[in-house]
Amino acid sequence: VSDLQAVLRDVPDFPKPGIVFKDITPMLADPRLYGRVVNAMSAPFRGKHITKVVGVESRGFLLGAPMALALDAGFVPARKPGKLPHRRIIERYSLEYGADGVEMHEDAILKDERILVVDDVLATGGTADATARLVSRLGGQLVGFSFLITLDFLEGAKRLGPDKVTSLLTF
Ligand code: 5GP
Repeated sequence: VSDLQAVLRDVPDFPKPGIVFKDITPMLADPRLYGRVVNAMSAPFRGKHITKVVGVESRGFLLGAPMALALDAGFVPARKPGKLPHRRIIERYSLEYGADGVEMHEDAILKDERILVVDDVLATGGTADATARLVSRLGGQLVGFSFLITLDFLEGAKRLGPDKVTSLLTF
C-alpha cells in the first residue's frame, strides 16, 4: 500500500480551484502496481458470483474492465449522457454547482444478475449512487461497490451504505 500511495499524485486546484485531485495515471503506468491494484480490488468479491462489473466513466473503465476479467464476469460501461449508442436509461444527480447524469444500455443487465460497481474515487457518492439506481431499475442485485480511493471527509460511504463499500485507500 505504501508504494501505491507514493505514486498517487495530488494535483491542487484541478479541475476547479480548491479541489485537490488524486491523479492515478502514474499507478496505471506501472504494470506491477496496476496488476496488484486490480487483484486487491477484486479479492473481496472472489466467490461472490459477480456476473457483471459496472465501470463508471472513465477511470472506472480502467479498473472495472480488468476486474471483470479477473472475476470471470462481464463488463458494463456506465457513461456520461449521450455517449451510448443503443437504447438507454438515465439517472441524474446533483453536483455542488448544477447537475450531471449517468446512462446505461437498457439490456446491459438482466434481472437478478449480481453486480459490482467500480470507480477510482469515492467522493460524495453521488455518481455511484446514481449508478446503483440504474442497476436496480434494470433488476440487478447490487453486491457491492469497489473504489481504489475513498475521500472519507465527504461521507460517500455513509450515503451508499458502509457495508456495501470496499476501498483500498482512505484519505
Ligand atoms: P462523487 O460523485 O462521489 O462526488 O465523485 C466521484 C466521481 O468524481 C468519480 O467518478 C471520480 O472519478 C471523480 N473524482 C472526484 N474526485 C476525484 C479525485 O480527486 N481524483 C479522481 N481521479 N477522481 C475524482
